[in-house]
Amino acid sequence: MSNIIAIVGRPNVGKSTFYNRLTESRKAIVDDFSGVTRDRHYGQGEWIGKTFTVIDTGGYVHGSDDIYEAAIREQVLIAIDEASVILFMVDVTTGITDLDDEIANLLRRSKKPVFVVVNKVDNTNLHIEAATFYSLGLGEIYNISSMTGSGTGELLDEVVKHFEDLPEEESTLPKYAIVGRPNVGKSSLTNALVGEVRNIVTPNAGTTRDSIAIHYNQFGHEFLLIDTAGLRKKGKVREDIEFYSVMRTIKALEEADVVLLMLDATEGIESQDINIFHLAQKNKKGIVIIVNKWDLIEKDHKSTKEFETQIREKIAPFVDVPIIFTSVTEKQRIMKVVETAGNVYENKTKKISTSKLNDVMLPIIQSYPPPATKGKYIKIKYVTQINGRSPMFAFFCNLPQYVKDPYKRFIENKLREHFGFEGVPIDIFFRQK
Ligand code: GDP
Ligand code: GDP
Repeated sequence: MSNIIAIVGRPNVGKSTFYNRLTESRKAIVDDFSGVTRDRHYGQGEWIGKTFTVIDTGGYVHGSDDIYEAAIREQVLIAIDEASVILFMVDVTTGITDLDDEIANLLRRSKKPVFVVVNKVDNTNLHIEAATFYSLGLGEIYNISSMTGSGTGELLDEVVKHFEDLPEEESTLPKYAIVGRPNVGKSSLTNALVGEVRNIVTPNAGTTRDSIAIHYNQFGHEFLLIDTAGLRKKGKVREDIEFYSVMRTIKALEEADVVLLMLDATEGIESQDINIFHLAQKNKKGIVIIVNKWDLIEKDHKSTKEFETQIREKIAPFVDVPIIFTSVTEKQRIMKVVETAGNVYENKTKKISTSKLNDVMLPIIQSYPPPATKGKYIKIKYVTQINGRSPMFAFFCNLPQYVKDPYKRFIENKLREHFGFEGVPIDIFFRQK
């Protein structure tokens, strides 16, 4: 679980510039291998050891100027409901505009912490002008320059003080979340699994305050299904808003152990799906891909293979993920989903004994040792699994800094091959010994 920071404000104040600054360093570390076009506007950030999810709401306003206002209003309201902290960004070079005033009016009613962030304060002279934003009536103002980074440290120091301590593990039952774009069939699957939902919903069953879980206990399978599709709020209005569904998805995903990423077979895998996939992967969640509405596809004997290949190409390099073809309306392979999610959960939580690991891995390493670098030989002495919420392995050796990525991938593949981690991201570390 992490806290969510939403950046709101009218266009051109510098929201996306600031967003990039908050997420950049992390992005460089984790995303450089994936080669996917990134058009998402949410990502992970970190400040003094506290991680958070940051959302640039501006990324979710599309269309012409006259719809801006309504869309921004809506986003502010959603941010008030869903975010942990709201950053209200304004622009020192323009002063307070009508739209700023309107947003301030909405935010004044928020019970969530709101920070007025005056951007483009690129030099000290502008600090005086920035003082005008006190008249918004939202308390302290924070002068920053997203371009140079000045002031951002002071702001983040204050922001992280408002983070809630979110529960890590309250329930021992596996938690699954069905996520995916609107209309792929998420609610249909939920209903197919648990029937008349209303009776079975148990609020706060091992989840945080504002989410609910459905307790499933049938046919030898027991788990909690995290509600994402807004089953509680029956009004479908908000669900069509992209920003809202992204917000719900992030929250559900963070609470889940295993993410069931549902696609529509008639549409294939799209960039939004890949974004969710990467988010799940980065958060070390188990993943099952469900290709739903399989009944609508003209099939021959090769269809599933071709579809699978296509999906795996798009999600590479983490391809060791189960893919299931379902038709929820025809009740096809719904139990297979439940079984597969259970297997992935087991893979995610299993512990391999040190002796078994070494018995298998050391001979492999002996036959294919890491290539020598600068004339130095790397000797891997032993390996052990580290305790954690997802599988992590430490390989102890003399020169950990010389082990390159291709060798790490080789080791990862061997671990997967011998111990079975389908659907689970695993981490491999080389450490000095
Ligand atoms: P958004 O629409 O709120 O996401 O705004 P953008 O991040 O796209 O920024 C709008 C414009 O303001 C761009 O031309 C940015 O380069 C510029 N900008 C953003 N931050 C700063 C800043 O701190 N100082 C200055 N001088 N310009 C900035
Ligand atoms: P959600 O927005 O992801 O929760 O999607 P819904 O469960 O509301 O489903 C959207 C539409 O797709 C509804 O009209 C469903 O009846 C339909 N649908 C769901 N699953 C299937 C399926 O397996 N096959 C077909 N043909 N339609 C489906």
